[in-house]
Amino acid sequence: MSRSYKVLALVGDGIAKEIVPEAINVLEAAQRIYGFDLELIGPYEFGAKYYVDHDMEVGWDPAITQELLHEVDCWFKGPVGLPEWVGRLPGPYLPINQRLDLDVYANIRPCRLRPGVDSVLAGRKAGDIDYIVLRENTEHMYVKIGGRLRRGGETELAVDNYIQTRKGCERIIRFGFELARSGDYKGRPGAPSDGVRRLTCSAKWGVCKGDDLFKAIFEELEPEYPDVEADYAWIDAWSYWAIMRPDYYDVVVMPNQYGDIMSDMSGAIQGSMGLAGSINAGDRHCYAEPTHGSAPDIAGRGIANPTSIILSVGMMLNWLGEKRRDERLKRAWKGIDRAVDKVLAERKVRTPDLKGTNSTRQFGDAVAKALSEIGS
Ligand code: NAD
Repeated sequence: MSRSYKVLALVGDGIAKEIVPEAINVLEAAQRIYGFDLELIGPYEFGAKYYVDHDMEVGWDPAITQELLHEVDCWFKGPVGLPEWVGRLPGPYLPINQRLDLDVYANIRPCRLRPGVDSVLAGRKAGDIDYIVLRENTEHMYVKIGGRLRRGGETELAVDNYIQTRKGCERIIRFGFELARSGDYKGRPGAPSDGVRRLTCSAKWGVCKGDDLFKAIFEELEPEYPDVEADYAWIDAWSYWAIMRPDYYDVVVMPNQYGDIMSDMSGAIQGSMGLAGSINAGDRHCYAEPTHGSAPDIAGRGIANPTSIILSVGMMLNWLGEKRRDERLKRAWKGIDRAVDKVLAERKVRTPDLKGTNSTRQFGDAVAKALSEIGS
């Protein structure tokens, strides 16, 4: 008898309350169509608003424990944080500090121009842009090794430390070569311009010591993957080339903070932040979340584009299918990917970020319906 998978759902702040239900909507449809069994735990609340509403004592539903985050097969979350509370909340921010605790070192952030979506880049059509920003997720500027010097109550100095380790570089670069080889999470394997499977190493070597190490390890590993073309671009130059010739790129691996920034730029390149899905993947754990934040400028109006979180949970199913050798889950990801394309290509139902007038709910329903039509 096939087992059921435990999947935890967490909500978050701002538009999370609107888009997470649509991820659940599509997951439920996928279960019916592809015949797998999910035990959905939650959705539980957490985030800045939860802190404020609970007298700043706790920022998450007590049902969310560290043990639960380790025990479930995978989980997904909406964005979290509200600008007016950044840096003002007490205590640990449990569900967003998991990249290190769960050691989910690979942040996979596809950038694909989908049918029916107009690019901000002139003359680009569906399929011309199809690359992945592969962001290292556990090192670099975000390890929080640093501090402040306060004298007489005034902060006079603030230090962040930029960390790269041999282990951290090696595993993300290997992950990148494997990703380029497999073509996973892409419309098609290889770069759109020439079909070449290509891994671009992007960082600021020659200036930052950690990036010298990143590049040196890339060069060491390159001969082990003769079927993947190795490519190099300084990160500042890459931000130029990504706009000038996005079709040249296939998978682009970069240290943590660069990946954070470049994946937001890639949100624009693919037409909207509302299309930008992602997973945080490790060898044992995975959780899905959109690339974007809580979008306070549009929250509460029911108009956010839920595609980002729908694609994120689809990618999460693929990761789980790979780990548990369950083809049904991998087919479900392909189905969700196609269902999103179908709805976008038809141009009948779309949210305001794509110049439409439909609601988050209407778009989620359209994807669930398209998934049923595509079938298993
Ligand atoms: P944001 O990503 O929330 O929004 C940037 C722009 O993209 C906004 O104009 C917004 O309306 C738009 N947008 C984002 N998602 C959209 C969607 N699904 N549909 C349509 N439009 C969408 O960035 P921000 O405003 O700088 O950040 C808001 C808050 O989110 C901050 O508190 C920040 O700390 C937090 N944040 C959280 C995460 C996370 O949880 N992983 C990531 C980034 C930012």
